[in-house]
Amino acid sequence: MSSFDVVIIGSGPGGYVSAIRCAQLGFKTAIIEKYSTLGGTCLNVGCIPSKALLASSHHYDEIKHFADHGIELSGEVKVNLEKMIARKQAVVDQTSGGVQFLMDKNKITVFNGLGSFADATHVTVAKADGTSETIEAKNIIIATGSKPSSLPFISIDKERIITSTEALKLKEVPKHLVIIGGGVIGIELGQVYLRLGAQVSVVEFMDRIIPGMDASLSKELTKVLKKQGMKFYTSHKVQSVERAGDVVTVKAENAKGEIITLEGDYSLVSVGRRPYTDGLNADKAGVKISDRGQIEVNDHLQTSTPNIYAIGDVVRGAMLAHKAEEEGTMVAEIIAGQKPHIDYNLIPGVVYTWPEVAAVGQTEEQLKAAGVSYKVGNFPFKALGRARASADLDGFVKILADAKTDEVLGVHMIGARTADLIAEAVTAMEFKASAEDISRMSHAHPTFAEAIKEAALAATDNRALHV
Ligand code: FAD
Repeated sequence: MSSFDVVIIGSGPGGYVSAIRCAQLGFKTAIIEKYSTLGGTCLNVGCIPSKALLASSHHYDEIKHFADHGIELSGEVKVNLEKMIARKQAVVDQTSGGVQFLMDKNKITVFNGLGSFADATHVTVAKADGTSETIEAKNIIIATGSKPSSLPFISIDKERIITSTEALKLKEVPKHLVIIGGGVIGIELGQVYLRLGAQVSVVEFMDRIIPGMDASLSKELTKVLKKQGMKFYTSHKVQSVERAGDVVTVKAENAKGEIITLEGDYSLVSVGRRPYTDGLNADKAGVKISDRGQIEVNDHLQTSTPNIYAIGDVVRGAMLAHKAEEEGTMVAEIIAGQKPHIDYNLIPGVVYTWPEVAAVGQTEEQLKAAGVSYKVGNFPFKALGRARASADLDGFVKILADAKTDEVLGVHMIGARTADLIAEAVTAMEFKASAEDISRMSHAHPTFAEAIKEAALAATDNRALHV
């Protein structure tokens, strides 16, 4: 029987990063993945393919603005969806191959098959060819991730009533895509198909889209997406989703108790994701699972069985690839006897629409609820030279700082390239910067990043320079 210091179940960003860190720390490491490709949800049916389609559809959308730049097109511009999807798949395949390369480079043993606990130190791998192998481990890390969830009355047929996984490989651009759930995944994929020519309607139970983020971001994104043609039905509770042939009918009830009916040819159900532990036999190792289906862990990501840890989407907290990665690194270092720490308040959240939306730290709603007195510094993108040069005028940066100490408590931004800009805010907050600190740092001109400096100036005595 093969024996390892650490065995990791699941090769998503949590699992494979953890495996690399374990190998770096000198542990004999193995990783088990039930699919034939490595990289998990993020790489195969999540972050990477969605960003590939967002990039392709963004190029297509930009053609509308070519004339403003003095670029004249003579022939017809058409979308070849099959080719676009094939390109996305090539990006995925190459990236997944890259993870395999990293496993080999770090001498990590990869087992393909479903991993299930035999007991607290043994995992059985059921392979595709029907054989199975049991391996021994001193420590085990569960990184089994998540799967799309649905509503009890919706039956996902994966053809017309679909999840994000199918939305990443459609064979035609929908005529009318009805999206159930205005969270990050629904909105990103909605913008892909909106740009490609679909009518897109979003039905959301809460009173706003991207409800977990600062309300001002939600308001601005709604405004921009409405301008682009997306339709929103917020405060609407979906009651039924039925398919008859090629027609999908979605019924939803609004706040006044009225029922609206939306007819589309596809409906994307993006109401969240559920932790995935099917087939894991966690109970055989004494690993407790909560009522919400999450593996229960303590602050050290240790389960109810001391030598077994769990990370990423399968445990509490934000379902984000970089959160899973941080936890993967943290657990490896804990096993090595180190004392790593994650500040969950400083895990940024991003929506990769255009304009991009990004945030870190506390929202205004959270600060109000906690009774914290704070100041606000706002700066609009339209006042930036760089934004005018590239015609990316939508959006703003908002900095929330403690009213007394000036420490930055939250940064919320929507606009061009904010997915990358948010790293500056994370760095500043990791070092407990004040708004004044940020305002005194030189930011290259002309850049989108100047909006951060200006918002910091606005937060400290309202002294932004370009408004
Ligand atoms: P996963 O990536 O889900 O990986 C778990 C792996 O474990 C899977 O490969 C699974 O097959 C395997 N597995 C499960 N059970 C077993 C078993 N018993 N034996 C063997 N293998 C098993 N996050 C971001 O941060 N940025 C984004 O832009 C972003 N975009 C997204 C877009 C979409 C459409 C979706 C669906 C998600 C997106 N996410 C994004 C979320 C991100 O994909 C997840 O947070 C991330 O993948 C979680 O990583 P993980 O390692 O916990 O699990």
